Amino acid sequence: MRTAQPKTKVRTEVAIPDHLRSFLADVNKLIAAGDEATTTESDDLLQCQSCYGGLSDPAQGTFSFTFFPGEGTRRKWLFDLRASDIAAIAANTMTSLLLWACPNPDCGSMFASPDDLCIDCDYVDDTPAHSIPQGSHATRREWALAYYSLNPTAHPLMMIGDFNGAPGLGKALGNFSLAEAAALKSEAVPDAD
Ligand SMILES: [Zn+2]
Repeated sequence: MRTAQPKTKVRTEVAIPDHLRSFLADVNKLIAAGDEATTTESDDLLQCQSCYGGLSDPAQGTFSFTFFPGEGTRRKWLFDLRASDIAAIAANTMTSLLLWACPNPDCGSMFASPDDLCIDCDYVDDTPAHSIPQGSHATRREWALAYYSLNPTAHPLMMIGDFNGAPGLGKALGNFSLAEAAALKSEAVPDAD
């Protein structure tokens, strides 16, 4: 399971790249023309190669965008703009955005608010790692019983995965069937569900 563990974002002023400005200039024209794509609430009715967005708050007239500043989609900027901001960007009188940067130097993603979470950096995987039995085992049954005593909650498929992932074990001791793995779990952990 992944649990949020937010890191403090860094207030950062970034220059608006040309291709983003030209996209927002197109959006500005659509807004001026009353195009449906700018009057309908959506996440993605406005799109170009490197950016998508839509009207996120009709009452406030706020648009939300996701922009990919580099190669691929891992690094992204998420930001909100009023129609007046979009007009100012189109007119080149607004040339930068004030965003909140993820502090991970390898990440480069930026957000509208210091409370936004970076999907790549603000979560920790707290699934417990399984312990692998050490030493030598004469049979795979012996290995499985040792495994379950270390990992009493592990599902039989998890046991098989860990067994298969340990170099040389399958070759030395033969492979488990699921039925065998489940039976050994019942033997090792009789109280398990
Ligand atoms: Zn990040």
